[in-house]
Amino acid sequence: MAFDGAVGVIPFSRPHPAPASLENLRSVLESDHAHGDGPFTMAASERLRAITGGGEVLLTTSGTHALEMASRLLDLTPDDEVILPSFTFSSAAAAVAMTGARIVFVDIDAATGNIDPAQVAEAVTPRTRAISVMHYGGQPVDMAAITSIAAHHGLPVIEDNAHGLGVVTDDGVLGRMGDLGIQSFHDTKNVHAGEGGALLINDPGHVERAEIMREKGTNRSQFLRGAVDKYSWVDWGSSYLPSEFNAAVLSAQLDEFDTIQAARHKIWDRYATGLADWAGLVGATLMRPPRGIHAAHLFFLLLGRWSDQGELITFLRSRGIVAAFHYVPLDTSTAGQRYGRALRPLDRSEDFSRRLVRLPLWAGMTDAQVERVIAAVCEWRPTMEDV
Ligand SMILES: *Cc1c(COP(=O)(O)O)cnc(C)c1O
Repeated sequence: MAFDGAVGVIPFSRPHPAPASLENLRSVLESDHAHGDGPFTMAASERLRAITGGGEVLLTTSGTHALEMASRLLDLTPDDEVILPSFTFSSAAAAVAMTGARIVFVDIDAATGNIDPAQVAEAVTPRTRAISVMHYGGQPVDMAAITSIAAHHGLPVIEDNAHGLGVVTDDGVLGRMGDLGIQSFHDTKNVHAGEGGALLINDPGHVERAEIMREKGTNRSQFLRGAVDKYSWVDWGSSYLPSEFNAAVLSAQLDEFDTIQAARHKIWDRYATGLADWAGLVGATLMRPPRGIHAAHLFFLLLGRWSDQGELITFLRSRGIVAAFHYVPLDTSTAGQRYGRALRPLDRSEDFSRRLVRLPLWAGMTDAQVERVIAAVCEWRPTMEDV
């Protein structure tokens, strides 16, 4: 092997181990309440409310399920269209496709990877029923532009904020500016519950139905509050509430949220300074969030040529470092072509996807590991060739 086994492989991501989760899990096991909506669900929801500046929060079994709930709350049907960036995670599209609605994929901003509001405006048709955006790496989408297009056409906005928990901007808190926002607590996210998510409900008109949907379509939540004396099946729904085990782990994570974020930001800042000269030398561009706002969820760089992507990832692998590419544009995917169409050729999404490399980033990385990544990246040079 090209690297010293004693030094070890630096993984791409590692779930944060919050020590209190063991104690929390024990208390769930010893209680008579392991199903959903117990004390840890309440505590985690309360904490998420505080982190996101108030407003309704419902914990869900995943970010994907929160996106499904959003589609159902908006009553999307096969007659409808939803505007979505092509460069995003597939769940945002799958959650639309499950309703039969068509997806209209649009392009991104070439620097941030976030949806381009100009193309959103262009993609609106009489069938458009929603705009779905994603804050890539917790870099804020231009929400002023998006909400103004949405207001002009009377359209709801869904914010996929899986990457950007707690990010505050001049326009508002990420996940709180659209009608509905979602968070993910998959173990690759900044805080996790193994698997888990949350629906942020910013339009109060959705609260009651969302509670029902999450409880298998029953009004059991109202029953538990004493608002009705029996509960029964009242609407479409599924089992979207996580068990107390997941909530117990999430609670412990959220208690350390500030520490986790500080550690991640420190690593992100070190990458930004440590790689600046190298980037200039090899014609790469480092992630540069507008106004410096991001969630330290990921650190990406954009290489000069498509062929560099695989070469850098392979080179880092030979140095015992796991780096990663990101989303293959959805409009080019098998399901994307079946369930949607592109507004036009989405060149920026393709170019971004082909040039992007993400470096390892998790809260427990040691300074030595961060320096090892920087040193390895700085050692790499593009293959010389005649252009
Ligand atoms: C992780 C992620 C999701 C899905 O979340 P799950 O909790 O894994 O279902 C959705 N969107 C984005 C942008 C994500 O990164």
